[in-house]
Amino acid sequence: AEGMTVKDLADKLEAKVKDVMRVILEQGMRMTINSTLDADTATMLARQFGAEVEVRSFEEEIVEFEEGVSRPEDRETRAPVVTVMGHVDHGKTTLLDSLRTTRVAEREAGGITQHIGAYAVELNDRKIVFLDTPGHAAFTTMRARGAKVTDVVVLVVAADDGVMPQTREAIDHAKAAKVPIIVAINKIDKPDSNPERVMRELSEIGLLAESWGGDTVMVPVSAKAKQNLDQLLEMILLVTEIGDLKANAARNASGTVLEGKLDRGRGPVATVLVQDGTLHVGDTVLVGTIVGKVRALQDDRGRSVREVGPSTPVEVLGLGGVPTPGDTFQAVEDVAKARQIAMFREEQAKAKSLGARGGRMTLETLQKH
Ligand code: GDP
Ligand code: MG
Repeated sequence: AEGMTVKDLADKLEAKVKDVMRVILEQGMRMTINSTLDADTATMLARQFGAEVEVRSFEEEIVEFEEGVSRPEDRETRAPVVTVMGHVDHGKTTLLDSLRTTRVAEREAGGITQHIGAYAVELNDRKIVFLDTPGHAAFTTMRARGAKVTDVVVLVVAADDGVMPQTREAIDHAKAAKVPIIVAINKIDKPDSNPERVMRELSEIGLLAESWGGDTVMVPVSAKAKQNLDQLLEMILLVTEIGDLKANAARNASGTVLEGKLDRGRGPVATVLVQDGTLHVGDTVLVGTIVGKVRALQDDRGRSVREVGPSTPVEVLGLGGVPTPGDTFQAVEDVAKARQIAMFREEQAKAKSLGARGGRMTLETLQKH
């Protein structure tokens, strides 16, 4: 992709240059049709046009990404990763809490406190991962950075309130990201709840319930009274089964940063989602422009673990800095190479911000005349 311009990309995507430019402007980037695209931007743009591109860049050539590359026979089913979205007060937090306490805590006396912004639940020995963090803003930020972490969106709509602005917004996000939607019609315990009204309102904006002949799964639930939650989990498994989610636990870990913070006692702490491979204590990881050695791993229940496989949220200690949500991470064999890539990325980022500033100045100059 070195040297690929906006126009080149449009040609490759068989899209109109002006359509690609529109997306670029919508994302707030300043470019012309002759601007050169970096790998992240090209990948992000291609996704918007429904294409998965394999962008080969300098950094990919020097990291042995292909090491332990997945042979089809090595790939195993992985757990689906879910983001809960919906209008404020429709019950997202209550739903996440109820799922956590019913499906996780029942086996552990004393319950569990939340450790990281993501956790796994189990239904009939099958795992489902819920992300707490990506609300609408985080979801958009991650997507803009080219990160795809969610396999399905659970859209919470309160049955006593119906479709509201953030309901529509969530649908738009999910559609743009090409992530399937399951609707949880919530608060059915309330006397004034009207699930049919919710179904009707959703049908008017393009989501027709399966029970009405459409293809959107809708499950009436009460997050508060913990009604029908197992049915919701079953539907998540069913819908994602079609997606045939696979990963290869034998390869080096890779995934996405969900959160980063600086902890007084522990130093930089990152919550990451391992999406492929297995991450071990002692691995060297490259996260954005940061290189570090994994000093400790903590799972969603705050337990120290030695290693974690695909579709696992985990807290990573030992990084040399605080990473940004949406950053990708890779476990790498070669520390020197990892450092080289980190430096390369830093230079690229610098060049980018300089370029952006240059663009703005030109525009300002233009506007003055
Ligand atoms: P969020 O803004 O989407 O995270 O919504 P919350 O989970 O904070 O819920 C908003 C309010 O609705 C709280 O007072 C909850 O107790 C209440 N609530 C959530 N789910 C239910 C439900 O299933 N039934 C009833 N009756 N109330 C609910
Ligand atoms: Mg909430």
